[in-house]
Amino acid sequence: MSVLEIRDLRVAVDDKQILNGVDLTVRAGETHAIMGPNGSGKSTLAYAIAGHPKYTVTGGEVLLDGENVLEMSVDERARAGLFLAMQYPVEVPGVSVSNFLRSAVTAVRGEAPKLRDFSKELRAGMDALAIDPSFAQRNLNEGFSGGEKKRHEILQLELLKPKIAVLDETDSGLDVDALRVVSEGINRFRAREGTGVLLITHYTRILRYVRPDYVHVFAGGRVVEEGGPELAERLEAEGYERYVQAAKASA
Ligand code: ADP
Ligand code: MG
Ligand code: MG
Repeated sequence: MSVLEIRDLRVAVDDKQILNGVDLTVRAGETHAIMGPNGSGKSTLAYAIAGHPKYTVTGGEVLLDGENVLEMSVDERARAGLFLAMQYPVEVPGVSVSNFLRSAVTAVRGEAPKLRDFSKELRAGMDALAIDPSFAQRNLNEGFSGGEKKRHEILQLELLKPKIAVLDETDSGLDVDALRVVSEGINRFRAREGTGVLLITHYTRILRYVRPDYVHVFAGGRVVEEGGPELAERLEAEGYERYVQAAKASA
């Protein structure tokens, strides 16, 4: 049973302190939603866990099954079983989706899958997500629509089978049909693999499809409230304003 433990995490960007002591534990099989207003530090948390060089950890720890994630290279984090889907994936001209995915799978598994096996896996994954077969030959992220980016993220989940997945704003820019396909993908995946999911979102919309076990409200770079799925419904009705005010008052 895998567990991701975030303890008193403090992160700065360009000398500006963004995360002010985040505590969060995600176990295998659990889905946690992090919700909060724009600028509250949600993506900063995802980038810090991913090991993005711009994000400086100034305190606290991140442990995956007791191992210090913060000392791992980005590749080592992936091999250890962490998956991080980013809000703004980068375009890589000249690298096809298929090549990218095969490299990612090779890096995580420690050996290259046989081309035939990989092609089969890839096709099955794409079928399940209603992705057109021609997608595999496109250049990575080049001209991807919001829906294509998100389907591609879920396809990566299918192939990489992480222990813990951090999905940042997976619902942004999705129309209702794409939202359903992506949500079903996450649900199928988490049920089958028992993966722990940390779903970061500004909107409650995706939480109607991917029901979280726990909801954490982020404001001012820390968790200011925690609850069950009913908290997401309350946020939808009431908004974030009172958390923003409280965070300002305590800063
Ligand atoms: P959220 O995802 O909750 O909208 P972010 O983590 O993106 O919040 O941003 C939190 C704060 O950190 C914001 O004030 C933002 O301007 C700042 N910030 C985040 N990333 C950077 C960066 N790369 N350079 C400068 N400031 C940043
Ligand atoms: Mg934002
Ligand atoms: Mg964000």
